[in-house]
Amino acid sequence: MEIQDYMKGFIDTFYKNKETIQQGKPIDIIPEKTIKQLQTLDFTEEGRDLSSLLATLEETVYPFRNVSEHKRNFAFIPAPVVDISKLGDLLESFYNPNAAGFYSSSGTAVIEEETMSWLCEKAGFDPKKASGIFLSGGSMANLNATIAARDKYLHLDDITKGVVYISDQAHHSVHKALHVIGIPDERIRRVKTDDGLKILPDSLLESIKKDKKSGLIPFIVIATAGTTNAGVIDPLPELADICQKEDLWLHVDGAFGASVLLSTSHKHLLTGIEKADSITWDAHKWLFQSYSCAMLLVKDKTDLLRSFSETPEYLEDASENEHINTWDLGLDLSRPARGVKLWLSLQALGTKKLGDTIDYGIKLAEYTESVVQKTPKLEIITPAQTAIINFRYFNDELSELELNEWNTKLSNLISNAGFAQILTTKLNGKTVLRMCTISPETTQEDIDKTIAHISECIETLEQN
Ligand code: PLP
Repeated sequence: MEIQDYMKGFIDTFYKNKETIQQGKPIDIIPEKTIKQLQTLDFTEEGRDLSSLLATLEETVYPFRNVSEHKRNFAFIPAPVVDISKLGDLLESFYNPNAAGFYSSSGTAVIEEETMSWLCEKAGFDPKKASGIFLSGGSMANLNATIAARDKYLHLDDITKGVVYISDQAHHSVHKALHVIGIPDERIRRVKTDDGLKILPDSLLESIKKDKKSGLIPFIVIATAGTTNAGVIDPLPELADICQKEDLWLHVDGAFGASVLLSTSHKHLLTGIEKADSITWDAHKWLFQSYSCAMLLVKDKTDLLRSFSETPEYLEDASENEHINTWDLGLDLSRPARGVKLWLSLQALGTKKLGDTIDYGIKLAEYTESVVQKTPKLEIITPAQTAIINFRYFNDELSELELNEWNTKLSNLISNAGFAQILTTKLNGKTVLRMCTISPETTQEDIDKTIAHISECIETLEQN
């Protein structure tokens, strides 16, 4: 068989499997014996038979994954991907453009520029001044943003004085990024949050003033629009005002929540994001794209050019055009044109449909909250916010420590049973069950059945 026959055959196999995906488990972990089996497949000089290798991948590798399109997969930030994005991926792998710059792939450069400009407009940035780059994920976007902020505010000698403000709800990629850019823990301020886990603006201001007084250089506040733990949106307008008055960069990590910008009924939740200097926004989360498709948007493109623009001799000819080359906007040189699949999805589905689907996820979390509220032995810990809700098993005869152990056991039992995937997180010392409900495939019936299943799991645990 020719490789192209395998390719054609694979698409049919994929679509056949897709029909059965919802009947399977939301996650399956590779068994020890399968690991051993795979480890025996050393690389041979002669090569192996392609059809048996493909069968190995189909039967013993890919089944063991977090099935992100499963409608009862509520863990992490699920990735329910639209098929159009996968079609975009196929085009991208077949044509394999090197989207490093305009010269190397001028067609995709135009598509990425147009898409980025539209996203900037949605965020409330002036598209003439703003720009951005498609990256592999939110972690990379956070890193690129912190590099740009450091280079704008800190001269080389100042690096030992730079101070950063985040909350204890910031994603851990922010912490990693700060280490990479040379900011140690001693100069990362975890600003106090209110009962709703939002940064307290007064505490932030106080902390900035104190640091300035002691000769340090506060340079960036990193807020979150849709925290991973609880979907919380920090008070963006207040934080933006402080950053403006005190002259600090405001980065909004909207890896999860920035997609709410496309919703008509909930867009107001992100008011103030337009005042940020930079925004992280993951299309492979709530814009239903396959991995790896995320964006970093900056209000002023010169902020990225300052950090990343370089033209070595061998790229001089390729630089002679009026377009900005993506290699000047980030760390990557060779890169796929990640923005094309998003362009294709936005164009084909229409922006309204995407916005409505985002609203649907938010409403589903609210519905989950109403069901949990009516369910005995469950206690809401954080309400539905940007499609995330946290609750826990509660029994007033148990101590907080015992409750934590109980909820961990409960989550294990739920995940092992294979009906739904629900993992725990920790909020103010409490171990809670966390659900993120962004899949358009999930119905209210799925939510009812999932909460009923949790009640059954509670009964099982109580009997043991
Ligand atoms: N920021 C937030 C708020 C997130 O929720 C995540 C991932 O869940 C990230 C950053 C990291 O994004 P990625 O996994 O695309 O690197």
